[in-house]
Amino acid sequence: MILDGKKLAESLREELAAKVSAFTAKHGRAPGLEVILVGEDPASQVYTRNKEKTANELGIRGVLHRLPVDASEETVLALVKKLNADDAVDGILVQLPLPKHIAERKVLELIDPAKDVDGFHPMNAGLLASGLPALVPCTPVGCMHLLALSGVELSGAHAVVVGRSNIVGKPVAQLLLAKNATVTIAHSKTRDLPELCRSADVLVAAVGRPEMIRGDWVKPGAVVIDVGINRVPLEGGEPGKTRLVGDVAYDEAKARAGAITPVPGGVGPMTIACLMQNTLDAATRRIASR
Ligand code: NDP
Repeated sequence: MILDGKKLAESLREELAAKVSAFTAKHGRAPGLEVILVGEDPASQVYTRNKEKTANELGIRGVLHRLPVDASEETVLALVKKLNADDAVDGILVQLPLPKHIAERKVLELIDPAKDVDGFHPMNAGLLASGLPALVPCTPVGCMHLLALSGVELSGAHAVVVGRSNIVGKPVAQLLLAKNATVTIAHSKTRDLPELCRSADVLVAAVGRPEMIRGDWVKPGAVVIDVGINRVPLEGGEPGKTRLVGDVAYDEAKARAGAITPVPGGVGPMTIACLMQNTLDAATRRIASR
C-alpha cells in the first residue's frame, strides 16, 4: 500500500475549510496565523509563501512578515511580543533556520505557548510528554495521520523511530507511545541499526541521510514512514539538476513493506495541512479558555 500524503492532505484541507468557516461564522472573525521569515533562504521562502497561501485558501487570515537577513534579534523579539499581545492572532510561526546572529531558542521560547502552532515551545513539548493537551509539531502529527491511513494496529506494535530531533523524532515517539506502541528511539550512536529496524512493525525514518535505510532493514509487512527530504544529484541529468529522495531506499523497501510513504508526496504535504489544523485548534482553545 502506497500511503498517498498528497491525497490525504487534500481531504484534510477540505474538512478544515468547512471547520474554519463554521469558526468564523460563530466568532465573527477568522482564525489568524502570522508567519515570520528572516532572510532570503530559497527553501524557507517557498515554505512560508505556501503557508500563507494555504491559510488564506482555507479562510484563515494568513500574514507573512518578511524581515531582512540583517534584522536584529531585538527586532524579531519585538515582533513576536507584538503578535503575542494581539488578540486577533491565534498562531505565530517563526520559520527556521534563523540567521546565525539570532538565538533561535530565545525567539521560540518567547512565543506564547497558546499561539505556538509549530509546537516547538518547551511548554508544549512538556505537555505532550505528560500526555496532556498540547500544540504538537506538525510533521509528527502528519505521520500519525498516515499511520491511521495504513490501518496498522499501533497498540502493542514495536515502533522504531530513527532520529531524535525535537522537531520530528522525539514528538513522533511520544505520539506513538500515547497510542500504546512500544517505542525505540534510534540515533547516530545506536548499535546495529539494521537489526533494530528489522524488528520494527512500524519504522519512522527522520534522519536526513539520503536512502540510508535499505530494503533489507525492513521487516516484511512493516509500515514505513519516511520523513526525510534530501536533494541528490540527478543521475545522467545536467550538472546542477537534482531530485528529492527520502531517508529510505524506496524501491527496495517497497518490495518488503506492507505500507510505505513515497518521497515526495508522503509526509511532506501533510505538514502544512496539520499546521492549519493547529491554527484552528489554537484559535478554538484560546476562545474557550476565556
Ligand atoms: P536533525 O538533523 O535535527 O536530526 C537527525 C537525527 O538523525 C538525529 O537525531 C541524528 O542522531 C540522527 N542520525 C543522523 N545520522 C544517523 C545515522 N547514521 N544513524 C542513525 N541516526 C542518525 O533532522 P530533523 O529531525 O530536523 O529532520 C530529519 C529529516 O526530515 C530531514 O531530511 C528533514 O529534511 C526532514 N524533515 C521533513 C519535514 C517534512 O515536512 N516532511 C519536516 C522536518 C524535517 P544524533 O541525535 O545522534 O545526532
